[in-house]
Amino acid sequence: MTMLPSHAQIVVIGGGIIGCSTAYHLARDHKADVVLLEQGTLTSGSTWHAAGLVGQLRSSASITRVLKYSVELYKGLEAETGLATGWKMTGCLRLATNQDRWTEFRRLATTAGSFGMEMHLVSPEEVKRMWPLMNVDDLVGASWLPTDGQASPSDITQSLAKGARMHGAKIVENVRVTGFDMKDGRIVAVKTTLGDIACEKVVNCAGQWARQVGAMAGINVPLQPVKHQYIITEKIDGLATDAPTIRDPDRRTYFKEEVGGLVMGGYEPNPQPWTTGDVPDEWAFRLFDDDFDHFEQHMVQAIERIPALEKAGVKQMINGPESFTPDGNFILGVAPECSNMFVGAGFNAFGIASGGGAGWVLAQWVVDGEAPLDLWVVDIRRFSGMHRDRQWVLDRTLEAYGKHYTVAFPHEEYESGRPRLTSPLYERLKAHGAVFGSKLGWERPNWFAPAGTEGRDVYSMGRQNWFDAVGAEHAHVREAVGIFDQSSFAKYEVTGPDALKVLDHICANDVTKPVGRLTYTQLLNTRGGIEADLTVARFGEDRFYIVTGTGFRTHDFGWIADHVPAGARVEMVDVTEDWGTLSLMGPKARDVLAAVTKADVSNAAFPFGHAREIAIAGSTVRALRITYVGELGWELHVPIGAIGEVFDALMAAGEPFGVKPVGYRALESLRLEKGYRAWGSDITPNDTPLEAGLGFAVKLKRNADFLGRSALEAVAGQPLKKRLMGFTAGPDVVLLGRETILRNGEPVGYLTSGGYGYTLGKAIGYGYVRNAEGVSDDYLTSGSYELVVAMEKVPAEIHLGPMFDPGMERIKA
Ligand SMILES: Cc1cc2nc3c(=O)[nH]c(=O)nc-3n(C[C@H](O)[C@H](O)[C@H](O)COP(=O)(O)OP(=O)(O)OC[C@H]3O[C@@H](n4cnc5c(N)ncnc54)[C@H](O)[C@@H]3O)c2cc1C
Repeated sequence: MTMLPSHAQIVVIGGGIIGCSTAYHLARDHKADVVLLEQGTLTSGSTWHAAGLVGQLRSSASITRVLKYSVELYKGLEAETGLATGWKMTGCLRLATNQDRWTEFRRLATTAGSFGMEMHLVSPEEVKRMWPLMNVDDLVGASWLPTDGQASPSDITQSLAKGARMHGAKIVENVRVTGFDMKDGRIVAVKTTLGDIACEKVVNCAGQWARQVGAMAGINVPLQPVKHQYIITEKIDGLATDAPTIRDPDRRTYFKEEVGGLVMGGYEPNPQPWTTGDVPDEWAFRLFDDDFDHFEQHMVQAIERIPALEKAGVKQMINGPESFTPDGNFILGVAPECSNMFVGAGFNAFGIASGGGAGWVLAQWVVDGEAPLDLWVVDIRRFSGMHRDRQWVLDRTLEAYGKHYTVAFPHEEYESGRPRLTSPLYERLKAHGAVFGSKLGWERPNWFAPAGTEGRDVYSMGRQNWFDAVGAEHAHVREAVGIFDQSSFAKYEVTGPDALKVLDHICANDVTKPVGRLTYTQLLNTRGGIEADLTVARFGEDRFYIVTGTGFRTHDFGWIADHVPAGARVEMVDVTEDWGTLSLMGPKARDVLAAVTKADVSNAAFPFGHAREIAIAGSTVRALRITYVGELGWELHVPIGAIGEVFDALMAAGEPFGVKPVGYRALESLRLEKGYRAWGSDITPNDTPLEAGLGFAVKLKRNADFLGRSALEAVAGQPLKKRLMGFTAGPDVVLLGRETILRNGEPVGYLTSGGYGYTLGKAIGYGYVRNAEGVSDDYLTSGSYELVVAMEKVPAEIHLGPMFDPGMERIKA
């Protein structure tokens, strides 16, 4: 019997591609003392039966980088370990059969260019030349990514495992993790069928079992096993062994050459989930029964594409389980419930493509305690308590699976599992014509349909049906006053004798201002990158109220909690559901507010950047004088039970001033004009406040240490190599983000945000302009700019400051 060590620095659970890659990188890059435990034998979970297509392009630059890394690793691994990975750079063709898909590909090809990847658009004739067995009659064209390819999932995993061993990792098979010993919320030992291992950190790479392995330590890993099928055919005459892989999304199918035959699978609109209970322990190398009835829909489509398939014998059908997630992205990072369990799971049928890179970044994350790059879209902290609801996770995951190959329209919303969380104003706002979107479960008004118009989104690739209605809402905020229901904002209270000291260390800006003041601040990682962007209101000597974006609830709470030193006398409570938020914004905001409260809301008594408790409609309301739209305004934080009365009072008192409810799409347009940054797109852990133009919010001049200070000091005063800039383009240009920025015809960056500014009457984008020699004002203003939008160049103007600025007199008046 294999002996387990009694102690290991890091225990990796799961011997699929993700666990082996993580163990390999922990051992190779960090010389860590690592033990990998596998309940069966290596690859026996989902890995052995993967089809092995390896694509690289994603909509996030960082995730694309992770996938590109996988390819580089698979190319070279054999030279190191002596075990081949089966990597073949065949390239990938994606087929378009309609104009919307073609527009999607044109945008994707632009994104590829922005991320430094080669991607071409090719004609049906060219496709036929590259893939003679294909019927191309219905094609508009195809995209061609020459560096994509295919590999052998089991071979890569065995090669990674061998590499891990060569670098000192210990791999033990046929041992099951059965539980954890916990102390003060941390894992101190892993319990197994062969005994216990004391450890410092655990990495949960247990594939579809990751949910139940997490649950043993109280951790939620919201994934759902779904059945996924493909066939392998006998040899097909005329099929080249280096034939490109094919994705035919309009027919929901994919193809890859394998030993002279074809692998063909697909993503059906009616996926079949597996269990919502525990996955059986005994499932090594097992498959479900073939389900030809369910698979027939793919077969019909595939034969129309490749007629030779009709006569090809089916050698084997694979029907295996794979973990999918509610948003189609995988799950990485440190669990919010337990600071020494890391997770790498939920790979949505691209675990082979991601494996190399995911193991690389996860290993670094485990060792450093912070993500090495902006991994927000895959961060486990993008979920919240609602994701413990198995039925909700199931419904949303199946919707995401069903949309895998549908055209991705801009601004598209999910439909399943809604409404989930509503503010008490939901029915009132509906009566005003609200069309809702959802964010982390919350229903939020995106826009208000004017009387007589259809109150729903009609998706298209160009201007959508809400465009004019949002324009009117935008103008109303600039000219009069609007109310935004932002009750979904995440809110925390931080109290205790050490609260000030602790927050002053965590926040880059100065939060030691007197009681009654607000501070807009970033929270920085050790590289000086922006981990969070939020507002801190000081309501008492040791009483702070923190407000951040809806989606960042778990993440920002976790970041702060993780950086509270042991023994500090601080209490932090999430009070999101206790407080509703009404943002009253626009030049007439003061008139409306003065009409509902006896408090003095004049500029002298209640200046910008201040927070006061004021009475409205019999309730004590926390009023924060701040704006995200570039107008006079207040965020009113109202005890949730009273928000209906406060809203009604504001609407009644505001009638003479024309007050109206306004939605999130107008908010986005307003903030783009004023140049306020959005975390997760414009500002991320990859960017410092200096690069983002937020140096004014960093207390470098104060003699106080704070997280990220030394990284900023090291670069302060030196020329910046990238800077976030605003761009405008013609009114008919549709900007969505990721469009390439050209300076004097040369690529210098890409847009992180895109939209439309109704006051300016122009398209607006933000993006980092990069130059190794420095990005001075002179450099920026001396260039002439274009944006590449869906593969076409359009002229653009650069803006070093806000492109719409009513003047701080108006905001601060
Ligand atoms: C039909 C099909 C086709 C696919 N095609 C592709 C493709 O073409 N390209 C692509 O990129 N991806 C594809 N995938 C997805 C890919 O297979 C997965 O994303 C990947 O294998 C996931 O790897 P993993 O390491 O997370 O999980 P797994 O391979 O399942 O590994 C997890 C391991 O953890 C072990 N384990 C679980 N619980 C315990 C415990 N308590 N103690 C010890 N060990 C435990 C399990 O035994 C298992 O071996 C496909 C999937 C399917 C189902």
